[in-house]
Amino acid sequence: MVDMIVGIDLGTTNSLIAYFTEEGAKIIPNRLGKMLTPSVVSVDGEGNVYVGETARERMSLYPDTVAQTFKRSMGTERQYVLSGKHFKPEELSSLVLRALKEDAESYLGEEVTEAVISVPAYFDDKRRKATRRAGELAGLKVERMISEPTAAAVAYGLYDKEQDTRFLVFDLGGGTFDVSILELYHNILEVRAVAGDNYLGGEDFTEVMAKLFLQKAKLQLQNLSEKEQARLFREAEKAKCAINDTDKVTIRFLYKEEILEQMITYKEYEENCEELLMKIREPVKRSLADAGLKLSDIDEVLLIGGATRLSIVRDFLIRLFRKFPDTRMNPDEAVALGAAIQAAMKERREEVKEVILTDVCSFTLGTEVVVEYEEGRYEEGRFCPIIERNTVIPASHTERLYTARDNQARVRVRVLQGESRFARNNLFLGELEIEIPKGPRGQESVDVTYTYDINSLLEVEVTVVSTGESRKMVIKGQDNQMTDEEIGKRMEELAYLKIQPRDYEENRLVLTRAERMYEESLGERRKRLDRYITAFEAALKKGEHDEIRDTREALSEVLEDEEEI
Ligand code: AMP
Repeated sequence: MVDMIVGIDLGTTNSLIAYFTEEGAKIIPNRLGKMLTPSVVSVDGEGNVYVGETARERMSLYPDTVAQTFKRSMGTERQYVLSGKHFKPEELSSLVLRALKEDAESYLGEEVTEAVISVPAYFDDKRRKATRRAGELAGLKVERMISEPTAAAVAYGLYDKEQDTRFLVFDLGGGTFDVSILELYHNILEVRAVAGDNYLGGEDFTEVMAKLFLQKAKLQLQNLSEKEQARLFREAEKAKCAINDTDKVTIRFLYKEEILEQMITYKEYEENCEELLMKIREPVKRSLADAGLKLSDIDEVLLIGGATRLSIVRDFLIRLFRKFPDTRMNPDEAVALGAAIQAAMKERREEVKEVILTDVCSFTLGTEVVVEYEEGRYEEGRFCPIIERNTVIPASHTERLYTARDNQARVRVRVLQGESRFARNNLFLGELEIEIPKGPRGQESVDVTYTYDINSLLEVEVTVVSTGESRKMVIKGQDNQMTDEEIGKRMEELAYLKIQPRDYEENRLVLTRAERMYEESLGERRKRLDRYITAFEAALKKGEHDEIRDTREALSEVLEDEEEI
């Protein structure tokens, strides 16, 4: 059997893994039987690794051991410190990927070696590379990445439409926001424009809820301990989800041995979210402007990302677009399913209808030039765009550049990526040199051609116009890929981490949740919890399978009971 290629949505808040079957793409449940694995990692003092729900439960118990929303920092130098050990965002992501890979392997009964991973359309090259490295550290080959909105469009089956249509994919996740405009034209699904905000998402709406509570309870966030903050945000998160269906919610929060209660109405909450809604409007406007379209040109709006479940967001979109968004798909699952379909396309599976997917370049590619801004006066270090942001790829563009000095003997093409007018502010990708015949300034010229394809492969070709001589170079999206040696080395460095056998996950989760609830409760409730926890721990120590199961179930029931209070 050929090795399976899976599709992975490595989300800011949650991650999912999917595979392609004869009946289409399917999400693979994790070790706890859930579709969503929280993108949360915890490493304790002994080097034990916790991923997902258990790690999230540890947030309020041991905040110093937990990292979350690290996707926001992918591709940056930021380091996270967990129990005194340092981790890069891609290393934390690799631990999430490793857990997903293990779950998929155990579910499918075969090895998973390759994945198509989705990334926000707005991720630049650096962030994409970091994502790829995360895959490699987890033992996954990542040849192809797919932008999240494209994946969603594929999952929605947009390419099956009879008529030419324009879609806007609105993706509001936990911590990132992406808007993409896609156009279906003669059976080609084309991304026309992307825009986004890497620092906007459902968590901001949770924060608004938490702040409203604090304001009403006359408390200051900075006076709360880390544990209290984590607990408050969990309560706020619950309230945020609950307010979708009602006109008011009550938040109960244990603060200094006292339970504080505040009621928040839908209207109040909506008013306080106004600023966030305004922020949402910006990328929508920008993507429309980049695509040269008006709001009324959009035929359909697709919602993806968990935070599009917020009725405040839906109401806002209905008012904005004057139409109801398409919500046929589960907004959490669309991206992973689309990535799995893309994986099947990569494998050239017969069941998948041939679709021509194009994408846009989410950043500008160009080169450094000297500009004559007045007769005889030059400014060095300026950036000359060659393939502009939001150009449909595959794309190929040529720019003719002239010599800047008399008797110039060679031209050096520095390949840069970014939006700044100044070369130094953009990201350096590589450089190419070619010799040219000497002559007076401006006499000789070179044609610089950039060709960028859907796999993030950039080909740069420089041709001397007078002699026809040319040089070529390919910059791969995976240029900074770690060598096997480097991966091996970093894996070794991370070897102190103890990945727990997946069978114990449920025990660990129940125990962690119980510990957290114990801390949050008082009096009789606390005593009752203690009794059940002690019984469960005793069973775990003995290692008696049936007893472990029985005491775990008993404890779980008590926890469910408590959660409802
Ligand atoms: P994602 O990154 O796509 O998994 O989205 C996660 C975000 O969706 C989090 O901020 C969640 O709070 C939010 N979310 C999930 N379910 C709901 C819901 N029913 N109502 C409101 N927000 C939700």
